[in-house]
Amino acid sequence: MTVTESLLAALLANTNADDPFLIEPSGPAASPGETVHTYGQVIERSLHLAGALTASGVEPGDRVLVQVDKSVDAIALYLGCLRGGFVYVPINTAYTAAEVEYFAVDTGAKIFVCRPAGADTTAAPSATVLTMGTAGEGSLPELAERCEPLRSISERAGDDLACMLYTSGTTGRSKGAMLTHTGLLANGRALHEVWAFEPGDVLLHTLPIFHVHGLFVALHCAMLNGSSVIFLRSFDGAEVQRQLPRATVMMGVPTHYVRLMGQPSFGATDCENIRLFTSGSAPMTAPVHQQFTERSGHQIVERYGMTEVGIMTSNPVDGDRIAGSVGYALSGVELRVIDGIVQTRGPHLFAGYWQLEEKTAESFTDDGWFITGDIGVMAEDGRLTLSGRAGDLIISGGFNVYPKEIEMVLDETDGVAETAVIGVPHPDFGEGVVAVIVLQADADEPAVLANVADRCSAALARFKHPKHYVTVASLPRNAMGKVQKTALREEFSELFDPNA
Ligand code: AMP
Repeated sequence: MTVTESLLAALLANTNADDPFLIEPSGPAASPGETVHTYGQVIERSLHLAGALTASGVEPGDRVLVQVDKSVDAIALYLGCLRGGFVYVPINTAYTAAEVEYFAVDTGAKIFVCRPAGADTTAAPSATVLTMGTAGEGSLPELAERCEPLRSISERAGDDLACMLYTSGTTGRSKGAMLTHTGLLANGRALHEVWAFEPGDVLLHTLPIFHVHGLFVALHCAMLNGSSVIFLRSFDGAEVQRQLPRATVMMGVPTHYVRLMGQPSFGATDCENIRLFTSGSAPMTAPVHQQFTERSGHQIVERYGMTEVGIMTSNPVDGDRIAGSVGYALSGVELRVIDGIVQTRGPHLFAGYWQLEEKTAESFTDDGWFITGDIGVMAEDGRLTLSGRAGDLIISGGFNVYPKEIEMVLDETDGVAETAVIGVPHPDFGEGVVAVIVLQADADEPAVLANVADRCSAALARFKHPKHYVTVASLPRNAMGKVQKTALREEFSELFDPNA
């Protein structure tokens, strides 16, 4: 691969140094201000950060472990790593020192970049620890001021690693997904095409940047388009509503759309300039999809992806956006459903799990298809609908119970905000079905519970009926809004069988 084909070169190809890139709103709502960082400024910052890493002994192919808060410098650091050919490994800011140690040891990272306040050198004993804050402070930016900037882009082959992202780890320990320059670029280009990015698009960015969605899906689309990005440090419903009129595209997880609708004054006038709302990372329920359309006048485009392979499918921008379906394969993405499980092949695939050859081999078929572990049905025209994770399948009395099917019935009941259906050990049935329900604020609990039980009886075969209904204040979710069913299964493990 020549330098001009590298991921960074492609991301910069349509950008102009003087154009606004990251726009940070600031100040109180009454007198709002903003800081504009042009493409040229962010890139210049990235050259200096890359220079500091080079001066610290980092070489192409070395891993740089990063646990910092979302900031313009964090984006510059990512771009600097791409420039140097360093493998960027961002991790969730919520991880504790003990968890960080696992990633530090597993990656063999040469450098650990962390927040100034939490600088804990013991977490990464064999790495050099540098700090970086959100306002330009920290030992890494200080070093950058004293070092030669790295102006050239490191020559990399297409299958060289650009980044490594750790999977959410629903089973066993988190695995490092090795993501290549070619894979990330192929996915960025396919998304830019399917979502019909056009000159003048402005992206509202509220997602964390240690995950595929915020770092690659959102950022790469904007950069390939040379767009400006309204860059919010986190999702705040009121702030998002304030910024929406300036944006044409917003990418979110389902929880974001629920929270936006929690703003009493949110409505269609806020969305007049919006061209596209997308959702993914976790399933969006049909009622939320419909309610959002009623409130905003826009149908959310749901898409489906995972850490290992980026985004595989999307509902069409021109065409039916069907609630509950994740749409069609992106260009270049091959997709099939074998034994009920979605498989995929194409240039978007990762290069395997870091130092886990056996796990990698188990995840692929002999002819090179990646087995996603998601249960799906593909219509004749190629439209895909998901119905949960293979690992979430409940087997009760010898029958297969797909939680999604029950959750859909529960979600459509008045007074229900959200639900998760799990299986826990049961002395007679092997597993018993449990419905965990979050009620809407004004709901009458006994009436809602009677109603959901009636609806399940009417709509579902007997073996699928929840044997127990429980209400909770909120569902445990990870940073990307995914319900942590493992945590729920643990919490309710002794419900039917005290010896479980
Ligand atoms: P992660 O690797 O953490 O991004 O998780 C990927 C998993 O999230 C997929 O394998 C799916 O189970 C789930 N997922 C992502 N997008 C969707 C979606 N639109 N609908 C349902 N599940 C989704």
